[in-house]
Amino acid sequence: MTTCDIPKAFHIMAKPTGSACNLRCGYCFFLKKEKLYPGSDFRMPAQVHEAYIRQLLESHRTPRVTVAWQGGEPTLMGLDFFRHSVELQKKHRKPGAHIENTFQTNGILLNDEWCRFFGENNFLVGLSIDGPGELHDFHRKDKAGRGTFDRVVRAARLLQKHKVECNILCTVNSKNAAHPLDVYRFFRDELGFSYIQFIPIVERAENPPCPPLEKGGALVETVTHRSVQPEQFGRFLIEIFDEWVRRDVGRTFVLNFDGALAGWLGVAGTVCIFGPTCGLGMALEHNGDLYSCDHFVEPDHYLGNILETPMIDLVASEQQRKFGRDKKDALPRYCRECPVLSICNGECPKNRFCKTPDGEPGLNYLCAGYKAFFKHADKSMRIMAELIRTNRPASEVMAIVAREKGDLKTRFASAGRNDPCPCGSGMKFKKCHGN
Ligand code: SF4
Ligand code: SF4
Repeated sequence: MTTCDIPKAFHIMAKPTGSACNLRCGYCFFLKKEKLYPGSDFRMPAQVHEAYIRQLLESHRTPRVTVAWQGGEPTLMGLDFFRHSVELQKKHRKPGAHIENTFQTNGILLNDEWCRFFGENNFLVGLSIDGPGELHDFHRKDKAGRGTFDRVVRAARLLQKHKVECNILCTVNSKNAAHPLDVYRFFRDELGFSYIQFIPIVERAENPPCPPLEKGGALVETVTHRSVQPEQFGRFLIEIFDEWVRRDVGRTFVLNFDGALAGWLGVAGTVCIFGPTCGLGMALEHNGDLYSCDHFVEPDHYLGNILETPMIDLVASEQQRKFGRDKKDALPRYCRECPVLSICNGECPKNRFCKTPDGEPGLNYLCAGYKAFFKHADKSMRIMAELIRTNRPASEVMAIVAREKGDLKTRFASAGRNDPCPCGSGMKFKKCHGN
């Protein structure tokens, strides 16, 4: 291994309670990971905790370091664990280092004490919520089967009261996917949050035959009924994008859109799924076991234990580097020849379980949705990329879109039935917008 092979910075999601959680969300993939550690109490011991913080801070060669907490449900460790963590971070901090803690939670156990602590220590909190009450409660239930909406909204208000920086993490599943604007407007207008991330639920059914890509309806057989369908996910993104690009650019931040915009700008984005390669975001189990990624916590992607092998050796290992390169190397020809490859890059390998129309394995389940979304967003994304390149705010796109919409309306009003449609579809007006 040469120094060039050792990353300067990387990201580790630590799971101090392993897969233990106080909820039973229908689609949670992590609950099943319990089987990896039979008989475990799922609590990170002090020795692992200190090794994680010390090795993470020592290994970074950048001033900025993220300490990421996730689950399961990390609040089950109790607040004292995280108070101690902040002390450990002070103890092992390199001079000049800027440490940021991120914390993903379902919000159920949050109270004033937790939120005060988050605020005082600049934690960035990711709160899981799937939209308005009925849509949220459909899958996000507690162990007694009761919906959790009221408790999560209470947590959101407490976080706001203590001025905690907060992101909404919203899964897109078969239930809420049909209501994109209700979901988006709820976060923006009713909860008043400005940072939102949408995470598609794609759960593979047990031993399904993988149907051909183009048979939209048949894809239901490939995945569980909770999963979002590819075209549905594309429509979900498109409807929200249209609202966002008209009125919210620069005010509301949708990670999915920012991540995709990086592709139009030709720069490395912060969203691993759209990068050509990955492998710099690993998952740390409660006992110190390190895995290639949060979505690959399984024996085949076990890298080693940080109490036995230094974290940086595992991060820079050939096994992990190959994992990252495979994102690009394993793409089917259909993706390599795709017009939006530079934006999509085949998305996340965990979703690549379908076959291409010519029968090659490795196509992403969400392909049809992403293709539709990237095609739809192309013009506005190009405009934003150009604005940013010329040091102008991307939010100027809103005025451009409004002007074009106004122009289009005028041209619709004066178009004859047999004229080409002013929208540029190539169809006659009477068959397109004049219909
Ligand atoms: S496997 Fe998917 S989620 Fe994991 S690092 Fe790669 S792109 Fe990201
Ligand atoms: S849109 Fe589909 S074909 Fe194109 S790169 Fe993405 S997954 Fe591959």
